[in-house]
Amino acid sequence: MKPAIFEQRSKQIVQKREGDEFSIACNRDSLAGAVSQRACVFCGSRVVLYPIADALHLVHGPIGCAAYTWDIRGALSSGPELHRLSFSTDLREKDVIFGGEKKLEAALLELIAQHKPNAAFVYSTCIVGIIGDDVGAICKKVSAATGIPVIPVQSEGFKGNKRAGYEAACRAMMQLVGTGDTSGISPLSINILGDFNLAGEIWIIKEYYERMGIEVVATITGDGRVGDLARCHGAALNVVQCSGATMDLAKMMQEKFGVPVIRASYFGIEDMSKALYDVARHFQDKDPGIMARTAALVKEELSVLLPRLAELRKDLEGKKAAVYVGGAFKAFSLVKCFRHLGMKVVVVGSQTGTEEDYKELAAITDEGTIIVDDSNPLELARFVKDLDVDIFVGGVKERPIAYKLGVGFCDHNHERKEALEGFVGMINFAEEVHRTVMSPVWRFTPRRRGSLQPVTALDAAACASTVSPEPAKEAAS
Ligand code: SF4
Repeated sequence: MKPAIFEQRSKQIVQKREGDEFSIACNRDSLAGAVSQRACVFCGSRVVLYPIADALHLVHGPIGCAAYTWDIRGALSSGPELHRLSFSTDLREKDVIFGGEKKLEAALLELIAQHKPNAAFVYSTCIVGIIGDDVGAICKKVSAATGIPVIPVQSEGFKGNKRAGYEAACRAMMQLVGTGDTSGISPLSINILGDFNLAGEIWIIKEYYERMGIEVVATITGDGRVGDLARCHGAALNVVQCSGATMDLAKMMQEKFGVPVIRASYFGIEDMSKALYDVARHFQDKDPGIMARTAALVKEELSVLLPRLAELRKDLEGKKAAVYVGGAFKAFSLVKCFRHLGMKVVVVGSQTGTEEDYKELAAITDEGTIIVDDSNPLELARFVKDLDVDIFVGGVKERPIAYKLGVGFCDHNHERKEALEGFVGMINFAEEVHRTVMSPVWRFTPRRRGSLQPVTALDAAACASTVSPEPAKEAAS
């Protein structure tokens, strides 16, 4: 297959061939004009910090930057919901000329008095980096006046890509870590990092760990709290999901407080089970019964999951999927998830994968699979069309590509409203894939119309029934 690609990007797209040594160019600046699917530095830091629910999040910049943040992730909180309010200093032309420091200070003092947060994060945007406001000095001044941590996030959008935003967020959080009391924390304790509690997923994972007898000290950042971040250095282990977002924080904690780190993924059967067993193995010297408890938990969950997967697989066997996600770690899990459904991933890529990540992807994918780094709509559309995929898994920016081409779509990113993590999440995922791939609506799209049977009244009825039972009855009669 010869996809339409910019010549300068050719080294970032590789088709896996058995026997070839795998090599891909990645972790580089996006090609100008290619309309990368990546977001800016500010966005990267915002998505990591935003779920801290009892903190004030103030975007120092023009209102346009803040518009991107209104509930863009369905990060749920079990308590306060201050994170759902989006505040901006709304910098205008006059502020750009004379500086925005006074406006920032006034905004912080007013918002802290009104909302009484436990900390405040102040995000620098592009224009703040250009005009040179001393955000750090204002944060220090307001912190002294209000008595709460006011933390600058060095996230000027033009500074790099989304990955640089993750780092900025981790450096900001590190200012809180180590400031709280760690007394009373169990020797069998962990922090869950890199999970944002979309659709309440972190509660599913937390419950698994608690059934194993482990205390979860802090969830970072899903359902996050300032106080938990302050004392999380007292946990015995950091368990990091997602290769990019919070690994920097874990590394900083390892260096400063000696907290060991393991990586995990909570998607799919193998990776979910492995995450639990890896943690159990880490603590088995302290608690010899933990492996047996973990095995019992996995067995119980699989006894519900596997029969349902077998049913869905009957329809899905042989279908094809394209996967394009933010972090490569999720892509590994998705390749394995589709295999359980009898489906083949023919294209897989990420916005922020490293060479190591892509080598791992190449090792688990099938011969002929296209592996792509930092893609753009033109390429993705071409892959979807040429490889005739049945479902595209991605985020909000990939959804229109799929629908315009008449292909099923599964949101595996920040807008999803259904939990996809854990064993129960695997059932939800499989059911969503089945519903989408098997929907009769695709028979009416130009892409498929020529290759399938002609549209009949029965097709129309079946399609309508997926929307509303009433029109279906009418169409059938
Ligand atoms: S690139 Fe700059 S202006 Fe655009 S959203 Fe990011 S910070 Fe704001």
